[in-house]
Amino acid sequence: MNRATPFLAILIAAGAVSAQTGIQYDKIEIKTDKLAPNLYMLSGSEGVDPGHPDGAGGRIGVLAGPEGIFMVDSQYLQIGDRVIAAVRRIDPGPIRFLVNTHIHGDHTAGNATFAKLGAVLLAREELRAGMARQPTGDPARLPMITYGMGEPVRFRMNGETVELIPVRAAHTGGDTIVRFVNADVIMIGDFYRNFGYPFIDTNNGGSLKGALDGLELTMKIAGPTTRLIPGHGTYINRTDIIPYRDMILDVQKKVQQLIAQGKTLQEVLAAKVTSAYDAKVPGGLLPAGAAGTSADRFVSMVYSQLKGGQ
Ligand SMILES: [Zn+2]
Repeated sequence: MNRATPFLAILIAAGAVSAQTGIQYDKIEIKTDKLAPNLYMLSGSEGVDPGHPDGAGGRIGVLAGPEGIFMVDSQYLQIGDRVIAAVRRIDPGPIRFLVNTHIHGDHTAGNATFAKLGAVLLAREELRAGMARQPTGDPARLPMITYGMGEPVRFRMNGETVELIPVRAAHTGGDTIVRFVNADVIMIGDFYRNFGYPFIDTNNGGSLKGALDGLELTMKIAGPTTRLIPGHGTYINRTDIIPYRDMILDVQKKVQQLIAQGKTLQEVLAAKVTSAYDAKVPGGLLPAGAAGTSADRFVSMVYSQLKGGQ
């Protein structure tokens, strides 16, 4: 392998900043936050991931203890060494299980790294099917155990009960929320966010109605002091979901009225139906993908969902 080293070194240097996404992988550090005696959240640095300026990549959960480590999500592939180091600082024991909250690369791209360390990967059947359709990727990244809608999958380890609760077609078509019963913590993935407007990935099976159902479900299963941990942004309680849901319903109503008046998508975007919320939504007017701002992406999604009779 030595002969290949110079070439590899060039590849690694070129990969330090992604030309497509602008992510500065070499600058991402992992911050560890202890939520309970054996439950930790890991998040990436601020200001180095243009898609997630508040914290690079998706948040990881780590349940540690003598029965081995249970992880939620796997971050970007490029920072696997730093994620492993952060997990090892918590607990040097075996990483036994890893569940994905949804298919996006900021939550799953590191899957193969942990599978190769011996972790059994789990996810919704829809997530695995979507991942299997991707044209490239290490086969080791595919979840080995899958589950559908219905009763939560339960793990009893390290004195904790972990519930994998399926959510129908919300942020994506294969969302799971992960509840740590004794710690009173629920990792809710990305159907709620407090940086930018809601992002429903309809290309990956997500739906506005499913996201609203997911928010209702979360409010139902959370107690008044349950900490809800989104995939990005700050921790919340269930009361924080109410204004978020109401904002979605209000925007939905305004878009519906404009559709009833025969307005096109361009006309609906020009109507700035989120303006009452823009000052309260950090990152709401920042660019978010090809569709324009986060607000434009959200309104475009609402428009196409309503147009499609969803
Ligand atoms: Zn995410």
